[in-house]
Amino acid sequence: MRDLARLVKRKAKYGVECFREFMQPIKLPARRERIRINFNFHVEDIADTETYIAFREFVKGLADAAQAKPLLCVTTPHCPQTRCQMKQNHLCEEEYEERVKELARYSEIGYHGHFFSKKKGKLDGAVAEWIGDMLYSMAWADGLNPMGSSNFERAVVENQMREEIAWLKGIGIEPFAYVAGWWFMNEDVALLLEQNGIKIDFSVRQRHPDTFGGRYLQNGSLPPHGEPFILPPTKGVIEVRSVFYPVEHPRRSKEFFRDTVVHSPDSPLYVVFPSHEGEAIHFSRELMDNALATRRMKGIFEWQDLSTQLSEISSSLGLA
Ligand SMILES: [Zn+2]
Repeated sequence: MRDLARLVKRKAKYGVECFREFMQPIKLPARRERIRINFNFHVEDIADTETYIAFREFVKGLADAAQAKPLLCVTTPHCPQTRCQMKQNHLCEEEYEERVKELARYSEIGYHGHFFSKKKGKLDGAVAEWIGDMLYSMAWADGLNPMGSSNFERAVVENQMREEIAWLKGIGIEPFAYVAGWWFMNEDVALLLEQNGIKIDFSVRQRHPDTFGGRYLQNGSLPPHGEPFILPPTKGVIEVRSVFYPVEHPRRSKEFFRDTVVHSPDSPLYVVFPSHEGEAIHFSRELMDNALATRRMKGIFEWQDLSTQLSEISSSLGLA
């Protein structure tokens, strides 16, 4: 009986400690130069009408709340997966074009590359254990397989990238930004981006490999916390890191940002929140709350269009 009383007392004490910790406000120090921030959406499902409408409404609200245009990196009808989705949704090219143009009214538009191969690829390391064969057993475009480092074909990427960028230019959009499908990037893709006029990329994450488990740049070779750099081996494609999907309560996001906020407070830092249409629909409240919370932290964050980020960083790196 005495043991039970002791156990109850210990549990109660633990509960109080947890509660106290939970109630502590998380205070982040102000910075002399703020962290430039915005959203970068990987847009790959707007051939679906319901998704498109919900996403469009979210983007309108977000641009208004953040007082900055989010960056939407889109796939085009020259992506095999998008072509497949258009077929399934009975959507013609002109209708897809209208959707991209409509989204461009509230956002800036970049390019999102998803490449496919007839050959099945391999998954590396921990990802292979975690995701198993799922990635390759899913129904992708017309029986094609997602392209990563193990089934990479430069010519496929080169042709598709040229066609997709030409398609965007053909509808009056000059895509200056890129983010990789499945976070897959390598030297060849980086150089092709440069050849195709892409100026800024968001495909490198600090701690995470690509979806196939591969890593193009090792963590040790990356500058710390939000410092932009030139994507090797290019001479002028700027890399800005994608941080975390903002799908949790802003309090948790504050914890995630702690190390970045205290890093080099006299220099501007640059980050983007990555996201997809799916999160914008299923986690719309969390995404919006994170946008509003970072907007309220005026001594720390500055919401900025990505084209403005690009010109600021270009001048600071001597590229402009
Ligand atoms: Zn994608």
